[in-house]
Amino acid sequence: MFQTAIAGSLPKPSWLAEPGRLWPAWRLEGEALAEGKQDATLAWLEMQERAGIDIVGDGEQSRQHFVHGFLEAVEGIDFGRKVRMGIRNNRYEALVPTVVGPLRLRERVHQTEARLVRAHTARPIKFTLPGPMTIVDTIADAHYGDRVALAMAFAELLNEEARALEADGVDIVQFDEPAFNVYLDDVVGWGIEALHRAAAGLRCRTAVHICYGYGVQANIDWKASLGSEWRQYEAIFPALAASRIDLVSLECMNARVPLQLLELLRGKDVLVGVIDVATEQVETPEAIAALVEQVMRYVPRERIYLCTNCGMAPMRRDVAIAKLAALGAGARLARERFG
Ligand SMILES: [Zn+2]
Repeated sequence: MFQTAIAGSLPKPSWLAEPGRLWPAWRLEGEALAEGKQDATLAWLEMQERAGIDIVGDGEQSRQHFVHGFLEAVEGIDFGRKVRMGIRNNRYEALVPTVVGPLRLRERVHQTEARLVRAHTARPIKFTLPGPMTIVDTIADAHYGDRVALAMAFAELLNEEARALEADGVDIVQFDEPAFNVYLDDVVGWGIEALHRAAAGLRCRTAVHICYGYGVQANIDWKASLGSEWRQYEAIFPALAASRIDLVSLECMNARVPLQLLELLRGKDVLVGVIDVATEQVETPEAIAALVEQVMRYVPRERIYLCTNCGMAPMRRDVAIAKLAALGAGARLARERFG
């Protein structure tokens, strides 16, 4: 009960990539970069295990960014044709590449790191991929001319990689869909259908992560504009509850999300965010257990997992390590108290 996991990303070591950034530049190249990514992955795997994290991951050490790490293996995208675009409904600007032709996976995307983690742990592995809606919101399109058609094309590629990850020994494939919290009508309209295509035929478990973003200033400002109650989840949870996705990963700690909205996820396992990634203050086990107690009013305890609110990629490394330890300690206390 109260198994722990991280949403996905962890900070990269400063010898591997520029620290503190969402799109960090690599500090190695060629063979040294490939080795460095593997060393960083194994270092974080050990730190997760030591902190008592039950379901482990690669910490996204091999990708520069959670969306563009996938895109780099896709044919039909021109990385030389970068466009400055407002993303997440113009919450922030990003320099994004352009789709210029039919999309195809050139090669496996995450085989190396998935097999590496599988070979070095006996624990269940959760592996993250960007969701179709979030990808189309983070790329320019000069070929498909239609957001839904583009999303479905990406969903096919994601499915190809997800099936291969399952074969690599991954236990949970998670699709990251922060865009689900922004384009609420589209989630019901086509977002979940795209997710189903991405997850089609998988026998392993599937998850979707929906959050209020990394702890960067643009997101902190956005959250401040959302009023005293964040009710975005209310619009999409009924459709998610009816979906074929097994687990839903959410932001809860320090969020103004009314927890009774979690009742709308009936039938799903819930990865409850009990670690805030937008503050350097480290949660106490007591605060985590108190949040779990609140969530238990709305989600059956056997369906509750403890997780981070979002990825920790841009966070200070020492803070991230302390928060991993807090996550493990909070889960132990919750088990003692409510298990
Ligand atoms: Zn997130």
